Amino acid sequence: MLHFKLLGTAAGGGFPQWNCACQLCDLCRKQPLRAAARLQLQSAISSDGENWFLLNASPDLRSQIEATPELQPVATKGQRNTPIRAIILTSADLDQVLGLLLLREFQPLLVYATSVVRQTLQANSFFRMLDRLPGQITWIDIRPNESFPLADSQIVCTPIPLPGALPFYASTIPGAPEGEASIGLLLECEGKRIAYTPSVPEVTDNLRHLYRSCEAIMMDATFWSDTELNRLQTGTPLARSIGHVPLGGEDGTLALLSNINVPTKVLIHINNSNPILDPLSAEHEETLRAGWQIGHDGWELTLHPSSKAAA
Ligand SMILES: [Zn+2]
Repeated sequence: MLHFKLLGTAAGGGFPQWNCACQLCDLCRKQPLRAAARLQLQSAISSDGENWFLLNASPDLRSQIEATPELQPVATKGQRNTPIRAIILTSADLDQVLGLLLLREFQPLLVYATSVVRQTLQANSFFRMLDRLPGQITWIDIRPNESFPLADSQIVCTPIPLPGALPFYASTIPGAPEGEASIGLLLECEGKRIAYTPSVPEVTDNLRHLYRSCEAIMMDATFWSDTELNRLQTGTPLARSIGHVPLGGEDGTLALLSNINVPTKVLIHINNSNPILDPLSAEHEETLRAGWQIGHDGWELTLHPSSKAAA
């Protein structure tokens, strides 16, 4: 079976964000029962409930491991151990890779990434902390549309190529091959599929086709509108210009995917500016009416080989 857990659901910065007193962050601090705080996006998957794979590594990873018993070491297995078998990276974005540096306690790590993401991280001297002992970190290069098994689990992963550039800090690194700086993941186990696409710059026919083949899709919900960041702080970019199709409007994700009928559609990577975070907002209601769940920290799903989704 395929176990999927969301350990964090916010975009970079989390919710609330440290320097933000926008209406939503303020609401989160003052009325946490109405708008619950969220850690930065982190997911974990397993086919046996014992061996786990992290989808990216968030800056909140330490807290997320401590909040998730399945990811913790077990005293009967010795003083140093972990059920985390590997980490799969979908980009080199800081909010998706900084957690790797939190795993630097001489633990052997297996990391799957495209070669350009690997090279970007290896070019940063901080990441040498993961390579102090022979065999401490093992990188496995992955390529768009080339399926690979996750270690010795029953899960097969296929990188989904997405348009996208390397993050700003790596903008001097030349020549990222098309579709390798940012990928989605198609996760398959015993005939059941989950599409994991936390960063979607364009809803293409290819993506729609892929989503239709899945039991569950995890979708980029960074922004509601193209201009919401800009309205909070002048000089900040539009949603589409930084690789995120917004949810709302005629050309937004909800409209573009309105005819995708899969059993479980979940929104993830939600920026603190997105009004769906307030359950009393019209945008929240519109989202639910369109058949989407708004992912929350602790949300989980188990897909059995021959049954429908059981959340
Ligand atoms: Zn805010």
